[in-house]
Amino acid sequence: MQRADVLRNTLRRIDGAGYKAYKDIEGAYDFDDFVLIIDHVQGDPFAAPSRVRVRIPQRVAGFPEAAYRPKSREVALRDYITRIFAREAGRFQRPRATGKSGVISIDRPGQEILERTSCFVNDREVELRFTVGLPAFGRRIAGRIAQEMFFEDIPALVRRAGLYRSIQGRSLVEHLKTNEDADALRAELSKAGIVAFVADGAILPRESGVSQKPLSAGTVVPFESPPSLRVEFTLPNRGKITGMGIPHGVTLIVGGGYHGKSTLLNALEMGVYNHIPGDGREFCVTIPEAVKIRAEDGRRIEKVDISPFISHLPFGKDTTSFSTEDASGSTSQAANIIEALEAGAKLLFIDEDTSATNFMIRDHRMQELVSKDHEPITPFIDKVRLMLRDYGVSTVMVIGGSGDYFDVADRVVCLIEYRPYEVTAKAKEIAQRYRTDRRQEGGERFGMITPRVPLSESFDPSKGKREVKISPKGLTSIHFGTHEIDLGAVEQLASVSQTRAIGDAIYYATRYMDGRRPLAEILDRVMEDVAREGLDVLSPFPVGDYAAFRRFELAAAIDRLRTLKVRQLRESS
Ligand code: ADP
Ligand code: MG
Repeated sequence: MQRADVLRNTLRRIDGAGYKAYKDIEGAYDFDDFVLIIDHVQGDPFAAPSRVRVRIPQRVAGFPEAAYRPKSREVALRDYITRIFAREAGRFQRPRATGKSGVISIDRPGQEILERTSCFVNDREVELRFTVGLPAFGRRIAGRIAQEMFFEDIPALVRRAGLYRSIQGRSLVEHLKTNEDADALRAELSKAGIVAFVADGAILPRESGVSQKPLSAGTVVPFESPPSLRVEFTLPNRGKITGMGIPHGVTLIVGGGYHGKSTLLNALEMGVYNHIPGDGREFCVTIPEAVKIRAEDGRRIEKVDISPFISHLPFGKDTTSFSTEDASGSTSQAANIIEALEAGAKLLFIDEDTSATNFMIRDHRMQELVSKDHEPITPFIDKVRLMLRDYGVSTVMVIGGSGDYFDVADRVVCLIEYRPYEVTAKAKEIAQRYRTDRRQEGGERFGMITPRVPLSESFDPSKGKREVKISPKGLTSIHFGTHEIDLGAVEQLASVSQTRAIGDAIYYATRYMDGRRPLAEILDRVMEDVAREGLDVLSPFPVGDYAAFRRFELAAAIDRLRTLKVRQLRESS
């Protein structure tokens, strides 16, 4: 490996030269206390900034094993170091020359604690991955400023964010313990027959529609569990914790408009991830196989067997292998459910706010007016219990507008001024007293979940001269080759770094598409590889801004690729 002086000399030599001369600094340099690796140099001052890594040996970094073992703590520590680095890097931001010159930046975590490739910690070393805007005046290399960045700023950042003695303290301990407790809690849920848990005292409302920070203005009502649903767990660090445990089964969240129903559901949805201390949802935790379902008209659907919900479309259009370029509200919601089940969902979240009414309910009077032979849709109300019985899939749904659901619910939680009350007995009594007289239209079984085999030919990530061009465009969109995948209705994405990883994971997944393997197995393979080798497996070069994602969002992205072609796997074939 070259000494750091070699880098200094190169920067002196290329000072004032054309930007391309920066290519000469790619390589690894020994800075005594750490190794600096310049992986990729940007093409010009306005291009995506240059990718850099720093490796700090543990003899210098000094992290005790208890800070990065077991895995829950490792993930939290890496997340924490990233946050400190991001904060400190912000302090070095001074206007320097042209374009992105002089900017040092690292991935920016939000409210969730996710495994990220911005930082790694093991027995040997700490590795940080970030980007550097190599400075220039116009297109001329600003070598002096570059020297400052590499020989002053980066070493200072390493000292401030990469050493145990600089970051140790209460807030780090809190971060590690919170993450460990949340993981432990999630692992306890299934054993207790519970699909979701909200701790007493949790703060669920968010600051605004565009901010995931906790609401702090005005009166915020902390969560308080109804006694009949109160459960207690013992967490490794925090000890005893109480809160509302939602059991396996069909649960309704009812209540008047603006009483906090959607807020509770949204908190449960994001409970598949852990949250940072102070978020308010640290102990709002759901089972990992929970998927939010909503209507999504306009989406494309590729050969999904939606016959459990929809059959006999006008003009005999087939619904056992249903395709469309432009789904309706009800067909999109049906497809979203079937695809979630295909990917392995065990809990569905549904909010009436984002559902198709005719998919959710069909009341007695409508059954009288429009006979079943003329209604292709079997409403969710007639399938929700069959789905539970045949596939063991629970549902938690917000329903403020239809009491018909009382007949199919295992329990009913009513929100009044943001406080939950269990009203199951009363709802059942009302259901007895005012019978709906509607006919069950769901049949004897839920119906088949027909597996689909994605065909690799239908995935083309190339664009122009580039063989592979995949990038996220914000949180909810992926450019995949010349196509755009719209994830606007995929509500459990938490970070654009997940979106980035998912985009690359789609391409990675094609290696397992052999024309025979069904999507669920392909997801298994990809997730196994990521679990075993880390997110780095998705890229030929080290990437610093991947975050861990779930199989469900990967499946959702594949399902929404407009070129997707599949073959159905039928039992007979
Ligand atoms: P609903 O779905 O029942 O119509 P929402 O969940 O959309 O109601 O909540 C309505 C408003 O109340 C939102 O602005 C939300 O931020 C706020 N809110 C929800 N829960 C609380 C709470 N516990 N404390 C204070 N405000 C809350
Ligand atoms: Mg609502």
